[in-house]
Amino acid sequence: MKAARKNVGSLTELRKKAEKKLMYGVTGAGTESIRPLEIEHELNVHKVELEMQNEELRLTQLQLEKSLDNYAELFQYAPVGYFILDINGIVLNLNDTASKLLGEHKNWAAGRPFSVFLHSEICQDDFYRHRNLVIDSGMPQEIEVKFIKKDSVAFPALITSTIVKDEEDHFKYFLSTVNDISERKEQEQKMKMALSKEVELNELKSRFISTASHEFRTPLATILLSTELLEKYNEPDDEKNRKKHFQKIKSAVLGLTEILMDFLSLDKFENGVITNNPEYIDLVSLTTRVIEDMNIRRQPVLYKHADKKQVVYLDPKLLRVCVTNIIGNAFKYSHADSPVEVTTALVDNDQVLISVKDHGIGIPEHDKPFIFDRFFRSKTAEAYQGTGLGLNIVQKFTSVMNGHISFTSVENEGSTFVLQFPNM
Ligand code: ADP
Repeated sequence: MKAARKNVGSLTELRKKAEKKLMYGVTGAGTESIRPLEIEHELNVHKVELEMQNEELRLTQLQLEKSLDNYAELFQYAPVGYFILDINGIVLNLNDTASKLLGEHKNWAAGRPFSVFLHSEICQDDFYRHRNLVIDSGMPQEIEVKFIKKDSVAFPALITSTIVKDEEDHFKYFLSTVNDISERKEQEQKMKMALSKEVELNELKSRFISTASHEFRTPLATILLSTELLEKYNEPDDEKNRKKHFQKIKSAVLGLTEILMDFLSLDKFENGVITNNPEYIDLVSLTTRVIEDMNIRRQPVLYKHADKKQVVYLDPKLLRVCVTNIIGNAFKYSHADSPVEVTTALVDNDQVLISVKDHGIGIPEHDKPFIFDRFFRSKTAEAYQGTGLGLNIVQKFTSVMNGHISFTSVENEGSTFVLQFPNM
């Protein structure tokens, strides 16, 4: 543009060039009078000058058209949506990216208020305030709103707006760029969730450490005391005492193992490594084994399996954790002499039921809504060892196995816990 102006403007230069082009006209003069020749020469020079000016103008025009095309392409195919609005927020023009974002044809969108593309009244109000701020401050501003597409799908968008002024510094139009930030929002959401999970996990771990260190003290003291006493019971008639202390040690070790198992199970669950891997297992053998392992005090147990078939299709590891917890609780929260009733059943071959009934301390009515909460322990259970994690784990594991846990309980009379699983 500059070069063209320089060429057109520089008349003396142009004149020189034109003169050069017409050199032959001057040298060809001989017998004719000088005046007409000079005039003719002048006219010719002007003609050539005009032709050259025309050519320059044509080239400049071409250059202008080309750069206009380039700008139009930049506008149309920019990676952000451009909306040009008038002072009232009516869309005057939009680029291809903007019409793609909306899922609407440009012709449809032009002439409509920009606010019709915003998701809710709240977004519309936010944008209204944003527009006023841009106009009042004269500075570019940003805002996050929800846009709505033709198919009613909403997406989060970042709008950056500015005003464009004319040469006299008057408002010309309002320009808003729109960026789809769905992916960024999704990433932010994931990060937030990971962070809060991390915080929760850390809290869980420190809470567990304080619970465990407290709960570890009693069984460790029991083990220490019993081993010291065992050293003294050397005589043959000390057999009864020896048995008693061996049992105490066993029971204390079982308590410690339970605490650790609870924590490991919860940690695994929280880290998402718990998956349901069902296989064919013998329900009766698994239950019998758990009863034997957990019944340190040799409490009376009534176990009944109410079906001929005893093979079920369930995850043995998850099932063992669930059954161990509820049978362990039944022994723990009932008197050493009172019987624990365990019933397993296959209903119509597609439902597995495991019910554990005790005649122990029961659960106070006001505590019932909380017993599946992490770390919750009833006041009435404080005299017994525990972390308050067991039932929370059982509930989580049963749901991974697409099952369900329920209970009924009467304080000072006893409790019945029922596990129910689909036998797939
Ligand atoms: P823990 O036994 O380690 O305290 P659980 O999560 O297994 O943790 O149980 C949570 C609470 O539910 C117990 O502290 C107790 O108050 C109550 N509870 C669970 N099972 C029984 C039961 N069979 N009889 C009475 N109370 C129970």
